[in-house]
Amino acid sequence: MRTGSSSSSSWRWQLSRAMRLSLRWFRRCRLQRGGRGGATERRIGGRLLELWSYSRLLLTSLHFNSLTNADTLLDCAFEPVYWIVDNVTRWFGVVFVCLVTLLTTSVVVIVYLFVLPTILSTYPSYWVAWHLSCGHWLLTMVVFHYYKATTTSPGHPPKDKIHIPSVSICKKCITPKPPRTHHCSICNACVLKMDHHCPWLNNCVGHFNQRYFFSFCLYMTLGCFYCSVSSKALFLEAYGAIERYYQTPPPTDIYIETTAQKSIIFLWVLTSTVTVALGGLTLWHSILISRAETSVERHINHKETKRLQEKGKVFKNPYHHGTMNNWKLLLGVEERRHWVTRVLLPSSHLPNEDGIMAPEPAVTAH
Ligand SMILES: [Zn+2]
Ligand SMILES: [Zn+2]
Repeated sequence: MRTGSSSSSSWRWQLSRAMRLSLRWFRRCRLQRGGRGGATERRIGGRLLELWSYSRLLLTSLHFNSLTNADTLLDCAFEPVYWIVDNVTRWFGVVFVCLVTLLTTSVVVIVYLFVLPTILSTYPSYWVAWHLSCGHWLLTMVVFHYYKATTTSPGHPPKDKIHIPSVSICKKCITPKPPRTHHCSICNACVLKMDHHCPWLNNCVGHFNQRYFFSFCLYMTLGCFYCSVSSKALFLEAYGAIERYYQTPPPTDIYIETTAQKSIIFLWVLTSTVTVALGGLTLWHSILISRAETSVERHINHKETKRLQEKGKVFKNPYHHGTMNNWKLLLGVEERRHWVTRVLLPSSHLPNEDGIMAPEPAVTAH
């Protein structure tokens, strides 16, 4: 019995030991499994965090700029709008150049066909000579200066030279910007002494073609004024004839007469309108040239004058060398004969300076 009882206790003890051992093994296994899983989870979490930080770094490095501010962000937001406006203006530039050429040609053809024959048949010889020389001189000047203004580059800062006098860096071209240089978004380039982008020339007006632009405006105004005055008598006559169209019975004018009358009316209305509009523009640019300011600088200098005025100081334009000297510098007049050879006659001389001016501080005085 003892043996039986001892064997039964031993069996129980053995069973409980086995159970204890199994439980311990199971716990150990669970602990081990739990530990290993935590490490894996930690490892996966770590990898994800690392990936997230790396992506963030990549994203930030793509757009980060220490100069970024609200203006830059606004510029970026409006970039598609600017792109559309710039491209439409660039496309319209070609249309406008064709329009100028077409209208100028039509005016010349009408003058040759209808105005000049009247002058030749009715005016005394000295008036005929004056009309022939004046008309052809104006036509030559208009064609020459328009061709030069559209085909001459306004001048750009050199990209191969780094050490040039500059006041800032162009954010679009990533090149130094010399004084008076501005970026033209239509030409997509920095322009030396930029005045404005002219759609009628499909070109920027800058350092190297400003004289051609101004001379074109001046001679075109004079040419239109000449045509308008010369055809005034014919216009009044044609206008009277047109009024008779509405009478009953209608006049029995032949086709060529009505064409001539309509052409003369078109000529007078067009040339008179251009004389007033372009005359105003020429006058405005004359004022700017006298003050040695470009259209862009007009606004900048105006703001600077006001800012300094509040501080009790006076703004002085550093590029203003006196009215006459400003004109001489623009027209390239160095000697007296140049007023004839370089201003009154077609001349393709270039400006003396290269357009890269040293920065001159605006002199202020109390
Ligand atoms: Zn630029
Ligand atoms: Zn431009």
